[in-house]
Amino acid sequence: MQIGIVGLGLIGGSLGLDLRSQGHTVLGVSRKSRTCEIAVVRGAVDAAETDLSLLADTDAIFVCTPIVHLVPTIEQLIPCIASDTVLTDVGSVKASIVKNISPMWKNFVGGHPMAGTAESGIEAAVHGLFAGNPYVLTPTEETPRDAIDRIESLLRPLQVKLFHCQPEDHDRAVAWISHLPVMVSASLISACLNESDSTVLKLAQALASSGFRDTSRVGGGNPELGLMMAQYNRSEVLRSLHTYRAEIDQIIALIEQEDWKALEALLIRTQEMRSTFL
Ligand code: NAP
Repeated sequence: MQIGIVGLGLIGGSLGLDLRSQGHTVLGVSRKSRTCEIAVVRGAVDAAETDLSLLADTDAIFVCTPIVHLVPTIEQLIPCIASDTVLTDVGSVKASIVKNISPMWKNFVGGHPMAGTAESGIEAAVHGLFAGNPYVLTPTEETPRDAIDRIESLLRPLQVKLFHCQPEDHDRAVAWISHLPVMVSASLISACLNESDSTVLKLAQALASSGFRDTSRVGGGNPELGLMMAQYNRSEVLRSLHTYRAEIDQIIALIEQEDWKALEALLIRTQEMRSTFL
């Protein structure tokens, strides 16, 4: 197939690398010409330009810009493409995007690959980023079956685990397992930086090892992504943060009361239940 990718960064570039290795022709559009040049050199695209008209003759287009640019980019793209082109996006939030784009383009399938790294930009693009990871599609009742089939036929060979759900259910679920962890992890780094004794702070920084690396990873990533999650999934992020705060308050109370039995019961339950998420 002839595939278009708009936004040649971590996700767009990685999709390009994988789709080209499946034998597809991939045409890329990004904001900066330098990014387009790097994408060609890195083999993420066959050709790239800064002008959306490059994608006039494509079967499917993955829109991979930052969330804030998704809807405006698709608005600009629509006059350039044929009516049977299937559009999909990779935004980490789905309800507002699907609500905005579905009335504009019949052949639109919302999507979200559950994969990423702490890096961003075309230099961070890697082969095999999506393999083994969930890839959520959020078609509506009106989405044509052919459009869904076309996107699935491109994604299946990338070894992703395909899921379908309602955009609203997606946003509530990812608030728990993706957006809340970013806020919690960022608060962790921020809380540690509150240490007022500079000798102790330096010691903590020198002693930080695998545990801190795991728990701080998502909070120490691309700030733009965390900001977008809070802005575009505000109500679900707030709901999860309020519940999280209640859990923290409960743990504080148990430790203040020296209720070690109850704390142990809580930790046994979390140890048992972690595997239900992973
Ligand atoms: P990224 O590495 O920053 O890549 C986005 C790229 O889009 C930038 O490199 C930029 O390239 C280009 N761009 C920005 N504005 C543009 C515009 N108006 N038109 C065309 N290109 C534009 O970000 P990312 O991590 O790949 O995230 C992209 C999307 O994937 C977001 O919607 C995000 O929600 C979603 N997502 C991210 C992750 C993750 O963990 N990173 C996971 C799943 C989904 P230039 O150099 O040309 O400006």
